[in-house]
Amino acid sequence: MNEYESSTVSKMLEAAGFTMVKNPDQAELVLLNTCTVRDQADEKVWNRLDNLIPQKRKFKAKKVAVLGCMVEAQRDAFLKRYPQIDLLLSPAQLKNIGTELEQVTNRNFDSYESYEYVHEANSSLFKSYLPIQTGCNFNCTYCIVPAVKGREVNHSPETLLNKVDSLVRSGVREVTLLGQTINSYRWEKTRFADLLESLASNYPSTWFRFLTSHPVLFDLRIIDVMSHYKNLCPFVHIPAQSGSDRILRSMKRGYTVSKYLDLIDRIREKIPGACISTDMICGFPGETEEDFKQSLNLMQRVRFETAFMFFYSERKETVAAGMQDSIPVELRKQRLQQMIDLQMDLQSTIYQERLGGIVEVLVEGRARRGKDFLKARSAGNFPVFFEGDSNLIGSIQKVRLIHASSHSFKAELISQERLLNA
Ligand code: SF4
Repeated sequence: MNEYESSTVSKMLEAAGFTMVKNPDQAELVLLNTCTVRDQADEKVWNRLDNLIPQKRKFKAKKVAVLGCMVEAQRDAFLKRYPQIDLLLSPAQLKNIGTELEQVTNRNFDSYESYEYVHEANSSLFKSYLPIQTGCNFNCTYCIVPAVKGREVNHSPETLLNKVDSLVRSGVREVTLLGQTINSYRWEKTRFADLLESLASNYPSTWFRFLTSHPVLFDLRIIDVMSHYKNLCPFVHIPAQSGSDRILRSMKRGYTVSKYLDLIDRIREKIPGACISTDMICGFPGETEEDFKQSLNLMQRVRFETAFMFFYSERKETVAAGMQDSIPVELRKQRLQQMIDLQMDLQSTIYQERLGGIVEVLVEGRARRGKDFLKARSAGNFPVFFEGDSNLIGSIQKVRLIHASSHSFKAELISQERLLNA
């Protein structure tokens, strides 16, 4: 979501006459779009500001703006530590960024909305995000998102179909639907599965994926619809967070390990070759060696294609921050390293097992690694590189996977039949 918002703001700035510079030290205007989910993210922002704010003394025209969730959570801390910041905007205030930037920069801006749902300025022209929901109605005890993003708000199916229509008309081949718990989507009688079905059937040549699913709300109809439409990518990001029922209860996740595993089994049974990705947290308050072992067991049992792994980070104003039995940070870090090592081992076996397989990929552009190489992404969300001509960029191709590294595949092209403009 942050990438999407940052790219929308970039488009506004470019339209107002700004050009992007590589080094923020040379910039006339610096915007930091913040995330406050983990302490490390906060620290990065403070470190950046420690460096940027003193530059304002030397370079009077320099403006600094801070956007995003950290502003909602720590506005007073920003005002106290750096009253020189020119603009502070919480997620709820982002829609007003045009007017606010006019005051800071003396340039004219169109509204934020007018730059949404158009091609991303700085990335592939063939892919786009589409937020369908904001906020979250869950209350996981470790999570600050509901406090900073508010309650869930969904966009109407009509609005979303119109947005997809304009994206597809402008050449987008892949749309990633975004929502904090995307499968909770509901608009009157339309559930998430209905929305998926309507998008997939109306735009059969467009790939759709979605992030992030909550295990509790992943109903069988979503799986049925995904198995039925080839353009619904067989990729599901479905955070498990822990492999211990005791910890899941303490996190208030609302499911047990066995329920989670049943769901994964059903997805894999109905959608052969489905790629499953997860988030895992280790070192949650009270996590024993046994609880941690159960998390590793879960990872071994599921064999996630990708995993985003973190050690627990206290967030003020969350229930977990006040819990007893805090785990020493050093131990959290050790456990995280064990998790990462295990995932890397599993991933390398999974990648090896896929060698020789034929997959469809969306060709995103030229690869940096070799002038004849193209970079692409498979429907299952693996990065894939293969030799090919530039006229394939923007098309969906079939390739055979011939070599695996730790995070990507090398492949060979086996069909050229679906060129975008053919
Ligand atoms: S469902 Fe996700 S966003 Fe919502 S509270 Fe839980 S972890 Fe946070």
